[in-house]
Amino acid sequence: MARLFDDFDLDRWLVDPPDLPGGLYGLLQQVTARYAAKPALQTSDGWSLTFAELASEIEQCRKSLAVWGVEPGDRILVYVEKSPANVLLFLACLSHGAVYVPINPAYTPVELQELVRDCTPRLVVCDPSREPEVGEWVGGPASAVQMASLGSAGRLARPAEPRIRHSELRPSGNDPAVILYTSGTTGKPRGAVLSHRAVAANVLALCRVWDMRSSDILVHALPLFHTHGLLVALMCALLAGASTFLMPSFDPEEAIRLFGQATVFMAVPTYYTRLMDSPALRREALAGMRLFTSGSAPLLPQVWEEFRRRSGRRIVERYGMTEVGIVTSNPLNGERLPGSVGYALEGVELKVVDSTGDICGPGATGELWVRSAGAYNGYLNSATETAGTRDPLGWVATGDLAVLDGDGRVRLRGRSKDLIITGGLNVHPMGVEAVLNSVPGVVESAVFGVPHPDFGEAVVAAVVWDGEGEEAAELIRQALASRLAGYRIPKLFLETESLPRNAMGKVQKTVLRSRHAELFS
Ligand code: AMP
Repeated sequence: MARLFDDFDLDRWLVDPPDLPGGLYGLLQQVTARYAAKPALQTSDGWSLTFAELASEIEQCRKSLAVWGVEPGDRILVYVEKSPANVLLFLACLSHGAVYVPINPAYTPVELQELVRDCTPRLVVCDPSREPEVGEWVGGPASAVQMASLGSAGRLARPAEPRIRHSELRPSGNDPAVILYTSGTTGKPRGAVLSHRAVAANVLALCRVWDMRSSDILVHALPLFHTHGLLVALMCALLAGASTFLMPSFDPEEAIRLFGQATVFMAVPTYYTRLMDSPALRREALAGMRLFTSGSAPLLPQVWEEFRRRSGRRIVERYGMTEVGIVTSNPLNGERLPGSVGYALEGVELKVVDSTGDICGPGATGELWVRSAGAYNGYLNSATETAGTRDPLGWVATGDLAVLDGDGRVRLRGRSKDLIITGGLNVHPMGVEAVLNSVPGVVESAVFGVPHPDFGEAVVAAVVWDGEGEEAAELIRQALASRLAGYRIPKLFLETESLPRNAMGKVQKTVLRSRHAELFS
């Protein structure tokens, strides 16, 4: 089957960015018209939509946004479980020009309130079953925040007082499309604002490097509140005219079953270790599968090798971050090396610099900087933080340590920042420490990541404790349960008399990490 974007010239996007009439949705409309009768989305319980049906469902959802008085540029904070309705709402926001702000539905009231304050949304959308509790957290008579619940077809429940806005305005390339909250380097969640043009440039470059085609069928198991599931996986499939099997969450047995009818799987490393726990993972079960990708966290070479042995497929590892999109990938046709994240994508420039800002030679480790057509506009409400990670020439500091080989291949060497990535989800130690230190009996704490065979990294806390006669770990765990999402709660609390510090008084996380590296081995 023909590819849609054969003639796409990414270089033009850098030098002379074309307008993108209608934004990302303008591109999707070309796809829905061209592949009208083809299945676009389906679930294993038999629900499915063709591209033509998808277009008309999106239009109905868009109207339900308009009834709430949503105007182009308004932010819609979306706090829902993954579902087809969730996808329709996202696409309706793109079509309407509203800025889609997804957040993890596991967030606690405290975490949700913090993001609502930062993003000042026109609407907070939640699942109907959670409307009363979410209403209590962010609504109430004194609150200016409007709350809407999401119906099964992606339409919002009608407001008590409809306020239809008839806007003919449609987004264009530089308008914000999504805001993705990332805990970045400081621990305080920051909203990375991504334009329609940036997302399009990144997704189309990926479609090309992975040769995404309308004949592809993607098994979509990733969450929709993160760039990997929302932009990399879903948008790549949609803009290629491919079909997407939406799984509500990752289930290895169900994924293997779906592989029998699919061609592409995009995943975090943890999914591969889970798949290999199943005896059903055999070559015969994957006959039509042409592409397995991995990213968002380090893929151990032994996992890559074991998967190749079991499945006969070589995982294509890629690397990126919310702020700059995907920037490197192993090649589709060419050597895919375990332990390497591959070459720069089209439209992406890379450099590795030392602590003085000088470019490192091939083979030397330094911090990876990126300049990319897929880069963000900046952080919401945070010009200082944006300036701290991006220089005036548009280079973004990733905080990742890397080696650039002579042939342009990138190998990651850890993080200069302390971000922990557990099961593909980011946990910034400082955010967890702030909550931990407020628990009665906790004198101070240091949160860090250690290797974990299943999650990639596990969150661990060293705690100086002066509570008396009680079991510290259990008390602390109970105190955190209502304040932090489960994946952010440390798996182990290590009582200690003092934290290791350097001469400047900074806690030495590297010492803690190496001291406890074997905890889960
Ligand atoms: P996020 O913004 O949530 O996508 O997280 C970005 C961070 O994930 C990067 O800065 C890296 O530290 C990490 N990351 C992404 N892809 C990879 C990979 N293939 N290997 C190792 N770390 C990765």
